[in-house]
Amino acid sequence: VTDGCAICAVHAGGEPLGGWLLDDDLWSVWILDGFEVPGWLTVGLRRHGVGMMSMDDAEATTFGTVLARVSTALKEATDAERVYITGLGELHPHWHVTLAARGADVPADSRGLRYFDHRDELLDPDAAVAVAHRVKELLRG
Ligand SMILES: [Zn+2]
Repeated sequence: VTDGCAICAVHAGGEPLGGWLLDDDLWSVWILDGFEVPGWLTVGLRRHGVGMMSMDDAEATTFGTVLARVSTALKEATDAERVYITGLGELHPHWHVTLAARGADVPADSRGLRYFDHRDELLDPDAAVAVAHRVKELLRG
């Protein structure tokens, strides 16, 4: 745990909203505080490391597997047309990416990176938790 890191604080504090969808020795999947949008999930390093360059061999090797599993479950849970991935690290340097299911109902001019500009209006914690629970079931399946 690194002082001042909000992602480490979630791990230290127990359970995030909706619980851990996956939490193994290397990776965690959960709904990030402030990103309670249905179909948006965070995949992050279990330990504190800044940026993708902080991944060790085991983390780098398993990163793709985790992304494939979670994105597959997310697509199935939401029937999304696309599952986006972003990893900018501006809000939280602790290495993590956001997976965002983008449905066919999203207008053409709100797709791509512009989709993330709509975060505030898309917030729906109850629906986000419902999707997360479905993804968790699929990951266990
Ligand atoms: Zn951290």
